[in-house]
Amino acid sequence: MAAIDTLPPLREVIDTHGLLAKKSLGQNFLLDLNLTAKIARQAGDLSACDVLEVGPGPGGLTRGLLAEGARRVLAIEKDERCMPALAEISEAYPGQLEVINGDALEVNPLGHLSKPIRVAANLPYNVGTELLVRWLTPKEWPPFWESLTLMFQREVAERIVAKPGSKAYGRLAILSQWRADARIVLHLPPEAFSPPPKVHSAVVHLDALTEPRFEADAGTLSRVVATAFNQRRKMLRSSLKSVSPDIEDRLVAAGIKPTDRAEVVSLEAFCALAREVAKG
Ligand code: SAM
Repeated sequence: MAAIDTLPPLREVIDTHGLLAKKSLGQNFLLDLNLTAKIARQAGDLSACDVLEVGPGPGGLTRGLLAEGARRVLAIEKDERCMPALAEISEAYPGQLEVINGDALEVNPLGHLSKPIRVAANLPYNVGTELLVRWLTPKEWPPFWESLTLMFQREVAERIVAKPGSKAYGRLAILSQWRADARIVLHLPPEAFSPPPKVHSAVVHLDALTEPRFEADAGTLSRVVATAFNQRRKMLRSSLKSVSPDIEDRLVAAGIKPTDRAEVVSLEAFCALAREVAKG
């Protein structure tokens, strides 16, 4: 294990810079540097990688990533109040940390990073989910990243790794497992954070596959799956009516029973259906 850095403890950093957690930004900070180093280790060997970190806050995970040997870290943080604390980390790791004060949903980080790139983040869950879907659904594959190591509330993490037939199975499971290997690597109780959130959390690690498991157009698959699970209790022939006027024929052509519900349909069958729908 790499040595923890010589910067002040995170609680002191938060006091010095007056970083009172803001609910509107989903701020629940990790203050235990042993824990942030453990999360950073889940991202794999970082020594030859640039790491994109989204939402560094006071920099607990950032310090973990750098202490674990990341070649470079690019951190995008929306809250301007965190900039002085992050600047102190930059000084401790000269040339290794670049910080952008901005909204990760709007900033394009690619000009700031060199491949291979890994992504690590502890984000508010709604921003995390939106970014995860974007990272999984570019038109071309493989993507800019090799792996994603992301903190989510436990329920969202379970949706990412869920299998057909389970309540948690849906769009996130299909998009994640279509183009990546996804697994939960760590569970965290609310007390790991300051302030503690109401829910349990989990870290999910996704390794990008070199090729999607089954052929499909990302936009079509995403649309078909979102529509199917929007009314998950209905039979597919009725929940997917808006997708195609002859949806019943297309379901049959994809090997799916029109009377089935979305949650029993495999990833392979959804990809077959997306190909049928894309025929126009
Ligand atoms: N990574 C830090 C840690 O683990 O202690 C902070 C985690 S806190 C749950 C989420 C962080 O994401 C906050 O610092 C918050 O300001 C930041 N954030 C929220 N929305 C964001 C956005 N759209 N773009 C960039 N950062 C965002």
